[in-house]
Amino acid sequence: METPLTQHIVAGRKPLSLKEYEQVGGYQSVRKVLKEMTPTEVQNLVKDSNLKGRGGAGFGTGLKWSFVPMGPDAAMPKYLVANADEMEPGTFKDRLLLEGNPHQLLEGMIVAAYAIQANISYVFLRWAYKLAAQEITKAIQEAYDAGYLGKDILGSGYNLEMYLHTGVGRYMCGEETALLNALEGKRAHPRAKPPFPQVSGLFGKPTIVNNVETLCNLPHIVNNGVEWYKGLSKSADTGTKLYGVSGRVKTPGCWELPIGVTIRELLEDYAGGMQDGYLFKGVLPGGASTDFLVEQHLDTPMDYASIQAAGSRLGTGTMIILDDQTCPVGFVHNLQHFFAQESCGFCTPCREGLPWVERLLLAIDQGRGHPEDIQALEFHTKYLGPGNTFCALAPGAMEPLQSALKYFREDFERHIYEHHCPWSKVWQPSI
Ligand code: NAD
Repeated sequence: METPLTQHIVAGRKPLSLKEYEQVGGYQSVRKVLKEMTPTEVQNLVKDSNLKGRGGAGFGTGLKWSFVPMGPDAAMPKYLVANADEMEPGTFKDRLLLEGNPHQLLEGMIVAAYAIQANISYVFLRWAYKLAAQEITKAIQEAYDAGYLGKDILGSGYNLEMYLHTGVGRYMCGEETALLNALEGKRAHPRAKPPFPQVSGLFGKPTIVNNVETLCNLPHIVNNGVEWYKGLSKSADTGTKLYGVSGRVKTPGCWELPIGVTIRELLEDYAGGMQDGYLFKGVLPGGASTDFLVEQHLDTPMDYASIQAAGSRLGTGTMIILDDQTCPVGFVHNLQHFFAQESCGFCTPCREGLPWVERLLLAIDQGRGHPEDIQALEFHTKYLGPGNTFCALAPGAMEPLQSALKYFREDFERHIYEHHCPWSKVWQPSI
């Protein structure tokens, strides 16, 4: 099985130095695009590869690039931003790429920047990823010294500057327009879309924001071509995907696999199955802001269309497993606590609604809930749903809640009618 993105990442070993990376073909794609391809040809290649954004939304990468105004009259400067603000609970895939092989990310960024003719690029990195910050800083310097960054790259006449910008540890900064505001030194509020950043982004100029894993795919597509890339997958989607599994499984981890492996394969063959004494109850397939799937969905392929047909989203592809000995109400309350805390407070439904949902869940979890609380929660899943808030934070937060109410409703009701958490040994008085 080919694992192009992670083939040079070895646990416990420092990332490849620039010299080592070059020896295994590193930066060949930069040579190829700068010497043999026009920016439009690179865009078309990536469009044909059907690479979809790996940050969670799955938007076509080549299609996204094609909205950037090109040609001599296009607004300048243009910017490329690598979104490395990985903060989705349960998601740790980009960290592997950032710490394990930072030159691969830089190579992908140079290809992307050339394709949209950007001359300035940023890595927007999660504040807590300290090791990644060190490795990227070192890699950027090495790339400048070797002539892959800076003026007249490899004698092509193309110029690209690259900067590392570390965030401040807020989930909101991963939303692309909030990220751009943060990069401009402003408060990280989302912006209205449209206009999309492709047309009016950083400092009002055309900007592409791509996820780290998305960018790391690019050197391999350029070097090996579209047919090779399509052949890596097991489904209508193309390429490989970094999948993760966390929860009470025997061997939690992160693996690069053909896109389209099933949930069961990931759980049993890679994560080693459930830990002894625990049964599978449900799974959030793509991080905390996706809908639960349950036992009947275990044979669903982990690709965009199949997971959507099952009632959830592929999201970041990093699964969180719920077991039978964890209270689903407490589990969802914990997630809503995170989302309420991370709301930027800009729009009223999210700012007011998420803490209200959190309080209702806490009351139910502590045995203080009322039967009508379930209807109130259901109302909130719609009130905070798509189209009612400024960005995807609150609608994403509602996904695990609405599906928990669907699949684990009896568990919510037992808390209310028994006046305590059935998973807790301590009886909670009704207040
Ligand atoms: P989105 O669908 O609004 O946008 C995705 C990308 O496609 C953006 O770059 C956007 O500019 C572009 N796009 C979408 N519609 C477009 C259009 N009509 N024209 C031009 N461009 C368009 O989603 P989003 O709000 O950027 O991301 C939400 C996703 O992020 C969620 O699905 C969640 O799974 C994921 N997420 C990931 C993390 C993480 O740590 N990786 C954290 C939080 C959320």
